Amino acid sequence: MLSERIKKVGISPTMKIAAKAIAMKAQGIDVVDFSVGEPDFPTPEYIKQAAKKAIDENHTKYTINAGTLELRRAICDYLQKTHNLSYDPGQIIVTNGAKQAIFNTILALIGEEDEVIIPAPYWVSYPEMVRLAGGNPVIIDAREENGFKITPQQLKQAISANTRALILCNPSNPTGAAYSEEELLALAEVLKDEDVYVIADEIYEKLIYDNFRLTSFAAVHPRMQEKTIVVNGFSKAYSMTGWRIGYMAGPRDIVEAANKIQSHSTSNANSISQYAALRALTGPAYEINRMVAEFQKRRNYVLQRLKSIPGISCQEPQGAFYVFPNIASYFGKEYNGNYIRNSYGLAYYLLREANVVLVPGAAFGSDKHIRISYATSMEQLEKGMDRIAEALRKLKTPAKVKYVRLNNYHTNVRKTVPVEATLNAERREALIAEAEAHLKYDQYFEWNANINGLVIQLRTNQPHLYDFWLENWYPAQLESDLEPHGVIYAVDGVVGREPYAFYHAPTSTALLFNSDYYASLRSLALGMVADLGQRLFDTHAVRGFSGDLNGVGFVLMGPKGTQKTPVFYQLLQDANLALHSNDLLFVRYGGGYAVADNAERKLYVPTRHAEYYEPLKALFERSKCENVVEDRAACEYDKCPLIDSCIMDRGFPYCFLASKISAAMLDPYWIGGMRKHVKRIDVQVLFLLTADPLAPPVKELAAEDALQILSTGSAAGAALQPQGQQPPFYNPHLLNKDDQALRKQSEQFARLLEMARCYQINTAQASPRGVSEKILEILRGR
Ligand code: PMP
Repeated sequence: MLSERIKKVGISPTMKIAAKAIAMKAQGIDVVDFSVGEPDFPTPEYIKQAAKKAIDENHTKYTINAGTLELRRAICDYLQKTHNLSYDPGQIIVTNGAKQAIFNTILALIGEEDEVIIPAPYWVSYPEMVRLAGGNPVIIDAREENGFKITPQQLKQAISANTRALILCNPSNPTGAAYSEEELLALAEVLKDEDVYVIADEIYEKLIYDNFRLTSFAAVHPRMQEKTIVVNGFSKAYSMTGWRIGYMAGPRDIVEAANKIQSHSTSNANSISQYAALRALTGPAYEINRMVAEFQKRRNYVLQRLKSIPGISCQEPQGAFYVFPNIASYFGKEYNGNYIRNSYGLAYYLLREANVVLVPGAAFGSDKHIRISYATSMEQLEKGMDRIAEALRKLKTPAKVKYVRLNNYHTNVRKTVPVEATLNAERREALIAEAEAHLKYDQYFEWNANINGLVIQLRTNQPHLYDFWLENWYPAQLESDLEPHGVIYAVDGVVGREPYAFYHAPTSTALLFNSDYYASLRSLALGMVADLGQRLFDTHAVRGFSGDLNGVGFVLMGPKGTQKTPVFYQLLQDANLALHSNDLLFVRYGGGYAVADNAERKLYVPTRHAEYYEPLKALFERSKCENVVEDRAACEYDKCPLIDSCIMDRGFPYCFLASKISAAMLDPYWIGGMRKHVKRIDVQVLFLLTADPLAPPVKELAAEDALQILSTGSAAGAALQPQGQQPPFYNPHLLNKDDQALRKQSEQFARLLEMARCYQINTAQASPRGVSEKILEILRGR
């Protein structure tokens, strides 16, 4: 289990775009990368020499935690010279990149519920660092029309009693905006009497254009140095991203606290890199100047290209190596099936259509923009801008927008409830009285379902359960003098009760308390019908997928982990194969046949099955759904196959794969009409899936061996499921598990095995497709 704190921290969509780009490059696709966050220049030679010398002189051991005294002194000299700021080495820590300086500062300053003001667009890590520390980021909008800079009024309004700090990135990643000395001073005026620190991230300080003069926030006002933690580093100015050296300078108590954190986490920054950084600070300026001149040329080029693209506006950045154009006018446009809903969608489109990687503004808290990094060669810039212009030109407003609104209900309870199946008559009476007390006449729903020939009456006060119940089953007559075979009370809103279910077999009564999750009600109904049917008509409830190929009926059974679902959907792709049941079938024996019925009018299908059978998506969109995820943050699918092209990131309003418990009431005839669904099959073959690396791919089982596996539920998938954890006969719907009922199941399976052949199929060594080929071969041979 992860901590609540880490659960609040997201991975940025940037990583997904990057993952996609890497995959495309691996396929040999000529990708232009505009997502780069580091200069494309080599680290200057004199700096590399200093590192070599450090190695030769054996400076390869731990240094003092805060960094070597020489380097900290050099940093003090630098801050004095460039910003007229006085620090002593005790106020400096050399860190593993500027990133660690920011993180340590935040950890040192921020406690539970403390607020940190962060202007958006922001560098991706700021809010997540605040969340990791347990604090709350308070995002304020650095508006485009204000040059992506916050105003003193905005800052003033955002300050509350809980505000502990402001993070100010100057020049900014991602906008390139830089605050002038006057603008900083106006912010300082707001802060000077407040108990608020400023974390001044000045990592791009050297990368400034048009003779802009950058003032450090600590130097802008006499009272600011004591309230400011200056963060800087060597990654950007000296093209040293991989060397991992940054630093912080600030008030002594904060620096000491940050030093403690670093001493218990990473210790000193790399010793060799520290010697290289020392050389960087004392080295010549011409290499930096050359790089800055080149960046300025590229910035101007990209700006001029963007100007010529209709529908794009772009602020002129004064620093860093990013431009941040506004692309919102392309939302709602479409090309070739790509409908643009947000910045992620546009970034994804440009990736697919133009093979250009860039970062969607949403990653920086600004969905109307994209970030283009020009830390790449002029040649790449020309190529990439050509491609972007061409791809954007293709986007057109579609004649008709397909707007899908899902019929979807979110349940409060999200787990199937435990069932107590051993009630005595007295407790049954008491529970029914309790249930009926909650079934007020004006919120009461009653419906008789015909489930495999038995009339099961639902009495509920829960509209969603009633709704799904009606969808799921064939109706039975609803007359007051028709005595149902069984009754289910499903009562929501009973104070003081956990979600729980009860079953009283002698009177065929079930009660479900405080659950609006349909899976529980359905399972209870199926369990009742299985039990009643067994007792009354000798029908046999079998759990599995079932189907028919040219008149040959089959059942696919197996425990969790044996790939039953993907194998079944693979089988369904055979043109002649029809779906029978996706969960439970009722078998009747007689005349030498085993005839199985599917009792469900509509199938309750986990929407995640769309992962295995694409056409289901379009059908689910027209079905009644339960618990389909409609909020990106609620996605629960860590191993999602769409991880690098998440449709919800691109603004799609829901995702069928995002939750394990989402389901749709699917009309099985929608899959492909009469050809693709049958209600009744003649069971001739039973496939028991196993995921055992040592088993042969296919093995025909003698009836007694098959029976042994079925009744213990052990052999198939044994490697994945510990003994005793599978429900008997793989059937989780069984309510009555007393000896007599289980003996009866064994007898019924013995009869089935007289009429049907049984094969053990090993899914451990083959793909679902390979397995399905084997199964089809057997079925065709019958
Ligand atoms: N701050 C900002 C605004 C950045 O863009 C970056 C790097 N992308 C950093 C801090 C971290 O730099 P490093 O850890 O490499 O010094």
